[in-house]
Amino acid sequence: MKSNESIVLDFASSGKKVSAKIVYVTPRKPRDNEVLIKVSFCGICGSDFAMANNSGKRYQGVFQLPLVPGHEFSGVIVEKGKTVSREWEIGEPVISEETIGCGMCNYCKVGKFHFCTNSKKIGFTIPGAYTQYVTVSVNRLWSIKSITDVFGKSLGLKLGALIQPYSIPYSAIFDGSRNNWKPGKNILVLGCGPIGFAAADLCFVAGAARVVVVEKDSEKIKKFKKFSAKIVSELPTNKFDYIIDSTGDFELIKKSVSIAAPFGTLISLSRTSKKIELDTENFARQNLCFYSIDGNSLLETYPNIIQLMAANRLSGKMIIDQVVSLQKAKTILEKQRKGKGKILIGFEGK
Ligand SMILES: [Zn+2]
Ligand SMILES: [Zn+2]
Repeated sequence: MKSNESIVLDFASSGKKVSAKIVYVTPRKPRDNEVLIKVSFCGICGSDFAMANNSGKRYQGVFQLPLVPGHEFSGVIVEKGKTVSREWEIGEPVISEETIGCGMCNYCKVGKFHFCTNSKKIGFTIPGAYTQYVTVSVNRLWSIKSITDVFGKSLGLKLGALIQPYSIPYSAIFDGSRNNWKPGKNILVLGCGPIGFAAADLCFVAGAARVVVVEKDSEKIKKFKKFSAKIVSELPTNKFDYIIDSTGDFELIKKSVSIAAPFGTLISLSRTSKKIELDTENFARQNLCFYSIDGNSLLETYPNIIQLMAANRLSGKMIIDQVVSLQKAKTILEKQRKGKGKILIGFEGK
């Protein structure tokens, strides 16, 4: 197998700082239950920026260096292991969840793979898709043929790379063990990055009465003018049943508590190492609930998002900011140049 250009994160020789390098890496031959995927698109995630630009404080213990990052990818199967069933065909367009549980522990058995202490995470503890070829288990592999059949290969595979970021708000909002979602609720989303956008998009298709997104960046407000949710620059004054944060801006979160409706739910989807102070008396008086999640691989999350995308019910295309080369991605990571939406690394051009 030929070696391929890959972005590798490692400690710089001078010390503890992590830096990104472009290195040639030879893909691993698939074992019995694995497939080799030719990557088409891979999203650059906030966690990749965090891993590439500090000494891993925020994701300490979660990622292992040296590492090829990349957990938001789509591609096609080019080689199969011996025991991979016939339903997986060469050329099949696919995506994979990033958390591969052991399959045997109590958490895996109930689909909460991210609590599995023997789990592997693509792009965090095992090689990800900032490279043209990646070998992954079929365990958490999903076909996105239903999406490419509708949108064609180019757009279909780009949409496929967005399914992972959609899976985070999906799991947080629609996991029945955390809240009792019903259509007709008023939703406020803080922040219109890819996660906030996906949260608003999903709430809208799930029957929310109104979806409002607070976004300070005027360019983003313009860019998402046609989005089903209303984008505003200031926190509204009316009450909301759900307040979903994707900013980690604790001043904004603190203020938003005052506009949570009685029995309202605040959901934190942002990751920050900063501490946040909350007025718990207000939580008691209003019967509010605040929760967060770390997993995005609940049993039905991925197949349901794939069905929504294939049915053209989501606005994912709007959140794609740019498609860049691997070289450009390295510069973006180094300079922390976050986009006005999701930046995808494209291995087959735009
Ligand atoms: Zn991500
Ligand atoms: Zn397990």
